[in-house]
Amino acid sequence: MTSFEEALERVLAHSLPVAEERVGLSAALGRVLLEAVSTDIPMPPFTRSAVDGYALPGEGNEFELTGEITASPGTPPALTPGHAAPIMTGAQLPSGSDRIVMLEYTDTHEGRLLVERHVRPGENICYRGEDMEAGTEVLPFGTLLTPSALGVAAMAGRTDLRVAGKPKSVLLTTGSEVVEPDRVPGPGEIRNSNGVLGVSALAAAGFGEAETGHCRDSPQAIRDAATTALSRADILLMAGGVSMGTHDFVPMVIEEMGFRFLFHEVAQKPGKPFCFAVRDGKVFFGLPGNPVSVLVTIEEYVIPFLRKSSGFARFRKARLLGRLAHDLRKKPGRTGFFRGNAVESNGTFTLSVPDTHGSGDLVGASKADCIVLLPALSPGAARGETVQFSYLCGFGGEAAWS
Ligand code: AMP
Ligand code: MG
Repeated sequence: MTSFEEALERVLAHSLPVAEERVGLSAALGRVLLEAVSTDIPMPPFTRSAVDGYALPGEGNEFELTGEITASPGTPPALTPGHAAPIMTGAQLPSGSDRIVMLEYTDTHEGRLLVERHVRPGENICYRGEDMEAGTEVLPFGTLLTPSALGVAAMAGRTDLRVAGKPKSVLLTTGSEVVEPDRVPGPGEIRNSNGVLGVSALAAAGFGEAETGHCRDSPQAIRDAATTALSRADILLMAGGVSMGTHDFVPMVIEEMGFRFLFHEVAQKPGKPFCFAVRDGKVFFGLPGNPVSVLVTIEEYVIPFLRKSSGFARFRKARLLGRLAHDLRKKPGRTGFFRGNAVESNGTFTLSVPDTHGSGDLVGASKADCIVLLPALSPGAARGETVQFSYLCGFGGEAAWS
């Protein structure tokens, strides 16, 4: 059976080529920049005052006051010798002035300004181009477009940017026993939690464009639904029907449709029947139908794959370290993904994994903010031991990725 580490590498090795698109700044948050952005103007764009005070024509303790200069468009009148002008923060320095005294160090008396301390030439002035010349690169290729990066793009005069596209996925749930949530399940039926869970897990990771649909356990229904989905998207996720049961037709149908499987089962818990296949430019993820397995396999494989296919430099889950609040039982053999909670105090994380009723316990998983990982060979871990964990998407933000 394929190990978790090997399965993840095979998935990542088949990431899709990063698509490019041009989007307006308001649509660019969270995207990866696929060009270098330079400022078209110097920063600051004109020589300006750093404080509220008075523009002075040179040395001196007493000046005649002239009209005030505010931060507003236009060029202020030149300052003539013997005069001082009230000037606001961000206002353009008038010609004829070479220094600014802060309001706090002045007094006024009958239309005259008294300066109470020595002011050096250049004091409290920000010169045009002092921060950067026109043409300076302000955002390198590959930048993750955060709110401040978008502010920089606006400052540099950009209204749109060339960014990485996000590949589209379709999630098909399967199972003849599955009914939609607005129905009261009859005998042998179960409500569909995987549809909303799966697309929401993708949306929490910034991949909100996923569609979902459902098909029953028949090879023809699976083939038809998969064919339609693949005409609309490059990434097909199917939840359920991928294990060894007599009605688990999904892998057979996907293989008949020309896909090549890179693994069929992974030594992990939950999610052992997880499988992955490719066909020129299209990829298939077979997620075990159990909702907790859907959550874990999307977190651990699908989202890293989507991030890599969307140009993110950080597409692997960051593994942080925390101390277990209690013993964690596990048999050696499979990588264990436990749904847990991480509580930080004085820079140390304490991890707890509530007792769950096995991998079917979605209510238990819904209280988790992280996944505690015990490696395949681990025979379990004792209270106080340091173990790895990763935040679930939606809890860790960008810090959850490395
Ligand atoms: P499967 O992988 O198809 O063998 O399904 C494993 C378990 O998950 C079975 O108990 C299914 O009834 C259940 N299951 C499958 N699909 C869904 C779904 N969409 N929502 C909730 N449970 C499901
Ligand atoms: Mg099934």
